[in-house]
Amino acid sequence: MKYDLHSHSIASDGTLTPTALVHEAVEEGVTHLALTDHDTLAGLPEARQAVAGLNIELIAGAELSAMWNGRTIHIVGLHLDVESSVLREGIRQQLEFRDWRGREIARRLEKKAGIEDAYEGALSFVHGGLVSRTHFARYLVEAGYAKDFGQAFKKYLLKGKPGHVRGDWASLADVVEWIRAADGIAVLAHPARYNLTATRLRGLLAEFIEAGGEAIEVLSGSHTPNEVKAMAGHALRFGLLASAGSDYHGPENPWVHLGRLPEMPESCTAVWDSDIWQQRAA
Ligand code: AMP
Ligand code: MN
Ligand code: MN
Ligand code: MN
Repeated sequence: MKYDLHSHSIASDGTLTPTALVHEAVEEGVTHLALTDHDTLAGLPEARQAVAGLNIELIAGAELSAMWNGRTIHIVGLHLDVESSVLREGIRQQLEFRDWRGREIARRLEKKAGIEDAYEGALSFVHGGLVSRTHFARYLVEAGYAKDFGQAFKKYLLKGKPGHVRGDWASLADVVEWIRAADGIAVLAHPARYNLTATRLRGLLAEFIEAGGEAIEVLSGSHTPNEVKAMAGHALRFGLLASAGSDYHGPENPWVHLGRLPEMPESCTAVWDSDIWQQRAA
C-alpha cells in the first residue's frame, strides 16, 4: 500500500490534468490517492473517471483555506461527500473571495509596483475556474519580474509586499464544520509550514480538535526529518491521527514527487488504519 493524501491538479494550482495526475500516481506505485485541490471539487469527476479500471483508489478531497488568529491555514478534507450542500455553499463563498482577491492582487501590483496586466497574465495560466497566487507567480516569472517562483512570492506576494492581500477565508471552525457536514475527515495540512512556535502550534491544534479536526499531516512533502519527528510528537500528545501527503503540484518542482514520502513514525496511528477511515471509506 502506498498512500498519498494531498495533491493538486489544474483544477487549482497544479500543472497536470486530473487524468495525468492519476497516471503519474499509478506509475509511482501509489495505491490510494487523494486529489485535494485548493477550494474546489472541480477536478474530482475527471479523476474519478481516470481511476476506473486501474489499480488505484481515489479519495475525494479538497484543501480548504481557513483563517486562524489572523493567519491563513490549510485544512484538507478527505472522503468528502461531493454532493453536500453545506460544503458546496462554503466552497462557493471561498471562490467568491478568491475572485475578488485575484483582481485586488493585480490592482495592487499595478499601483505599487507598476506591473500592468497581471490579472490577464495570471489568467493565462488558469485552466480551472480558480485564480491562485501560484498563477500570479507563474506570470511574474514569465514576464521577467522574478527569476523563479520563490522569488516571485518573496518580492511580490507575501506579507508586506506590493501584491499582498490579507486573507479573508472562512474561519477554522467553519471550514472544519463544512468538512464534517460532508462526512469527511478534517486534516490540518503541513503543520510545520505556519512558522508557529511550539506553544502556538499547540494552541492551534487544541482549537482544531475542539472544532472537530481529527488528523494532522505528519508526513508532508514540505516537512524535514526533524519536522516529521516534531509533528509525530504533537499527534501523539493530542491523540490525532497521522496523515501523509506529498502536496504534489506537478513535475516542474523537482523536489516533490507524487507518493514519495518517508515511513510513518511508529508512534503514529495512520489515518488510513483508523476506524473512522474504515467507516467513511465504506
Ligand atoms: P493561494 O491559495 O492562492 O493563496 O496560493 C497558495 C499557494 O501558493 C500554495 O498552495 C503554494 O502552492 C503556493 N505558495 C505559497 N507560498 C509559496 C512560496 N513561498 N513559494 C512558492 N509557492 C508558494
Ligand atoms: Mn498550492
Ligand atoms: Mn497548503
Ligand atoms: Mn496543497
